[in-house]
Amino acid sequence: MAETARIALIRGDGIGVDVAGAAVAVAEAAVAAEGGCVLRWEEIHAGAGYFRDTGHDIEPRGEERAGAADAIFLGAIGLPAVRHADGTEISPHLRLRDRFGLYAGVRPVRAWPNAPQRLADPRAAGIDLVILRESTEGLFYSAAVHGRSRIIGDEEVRETLRITRATTEKLHDFGFRLARKRRDRGRPGRLTCVDKANVFPSMAFFRKIFDEIAARYPDVEAGYNYVDAMALDLVRRPWDFDVMVTENMFGDILSDLAGGLVGGMGLAACAEIGDETGLFQPAHGSAPDIMGQDRANPLAAILSGAMMLDYLADKSGNDRFARAAARVERAVEDGFAANAIRPMEFGGDMGTRAVTAEVIARLEGG
Ligand code: ATP
Ligand code: MG
Repeated sequence: MAETARIALIRGDGIGVDVAGAAVAVAEAAVAAEGGCVLRWEEIHAGAGYFRDTGHDIEPRGEERAGAADAIFLGAIGLPAVRHADGTEISPHLRLRDRFGLYAGVRPVRAWPNAPQRLADPRAAGIDLVILRESTEGLFYSAAVHGRSRIIGDEEVRETLRITRATTEKLHDFGFRLARKRRDRGRPGRLTCVDKANVFPSMAFFRKIFDEIAARYPDVEAGYNYVDAMALDLVRRPWDFDVMVTENMFGDILSDLAGGLVGGMGLAACAEIGDETGLFQPAHGSAPDIMGQDRANPLAAILSGAMMLDYLADKSGNDRFARAAARVERAVEDGFAANAIRPMEFGGDMGTRAVTAEVIARLEGG
C-alpha cells in the first residue's frame, strides 16, 4: 500500500495552466485533510507554447517520464496561432493516448445543484451517469493515423471501423467494474451497452463480447440500447441511466449531447485509462478567448483531479486517496447547494481563483 503517488503534470496552454493549478491546489488540500497519502508532482513541459519556443511539442524524454509516473494530469493543449508546418494542431496528448493505450474514456455527466439545467423536468436534478467511450479504435481508428483512410481520387473515401476482441473485452470489463463500484456508492450500478448491433457486424461483435463479460458479473444489471434510441433517451429520460459503454465515435457524440444537458464545458471532467496508467484532464480545450483573465471555471479540472485520486486508490491499494476524492466531490456538491460556488461561466461573480478557494475551504470538514 503506497503512501506516495507520483503525478506527471502537464499544465499546457491557455486556461489549461490556470485550471491545472487549481486542480493541483485542491488535490493537495484534499490529501492533506485526509492524511496518510501524499502526491508528488513532476512537471513536464508540453503544448503549443512550448512548441513555439522550442520546436518540440513535449520536452525531451517527456513521454517516458509521463509513462513512468503513477498517473498523468493535463490542463489543456493547443493555441490557434501555433501549428505544425502542415497546418495540423499541436497535440502531444493524442500521442500519449496512443502510446499508453488509453482505451477507456470516462466521462461523468451529472446535475449539480444551482448549475444550469437544460431540461425543465424536475427529475433532471437526478442526472448522474457516466459515458464510457472506447478511445483507441472504432471509426476513429481511420482518423488516428494518417494514411488509414482510403481516398479514391476525388470520387470516394473509405474509412475503417475497427473493433478488436482484446480491447473490447477490457473495455466491457472496465464498465462492469465501474458500475459495481458506483452501486457500492449508492448509484443503481447498471451498465448499458450502446451500439448498432442490428445493422453492423462490428457492433454485433461489440455486443457479443459485452454478453460474454456480463456473465462474469451476475450481480450487475446489464442492458442494451441502440445508439439512435440512446440519443433520444438522453434527452427524454437521462435520469434513468447509470453507466453506458460504447465505441469511440458514438461516445464522442453522446458525451457532448449529455454534457449539453447539464452545465457547460467547465463542468466536464474526463479520464482516459489504460492498463498501466491513466491521463486525467478537463474535457474542454485551452479556451484562448478567456485565458489569463481569471475567468475560467476550474471545476472540470478539479473534478478530473478527484477522478485521478480515485484511480490512485485502486492502483496503490491506499483507500485514503479515494476518501480524498470523495472529499473533493462533496466540497463541490455542498458549495453548489449552498450557492457558495458561482462560476462566471454560469453568469456568477466568481473567477478561477475564487471558485478554487471556496472548494478548498470546504475540504476540511469533509
Ligand atoms: P479544443 O479544440 O481543444 O476542444 P475548442 O476550441 O473546442 O478546444 P474549448 O477550449 O474547449 O474550445 O472551449 C470552447 C469555449 O468554451 C471557449 O472558447 C470558452 O469560451 C468556453 N470554455 C471552455 N472551457 C471553459 C471553462 N473551463 N470555463 C469557462 N469557459 C470555458
Ligand atoms: Mg472542442
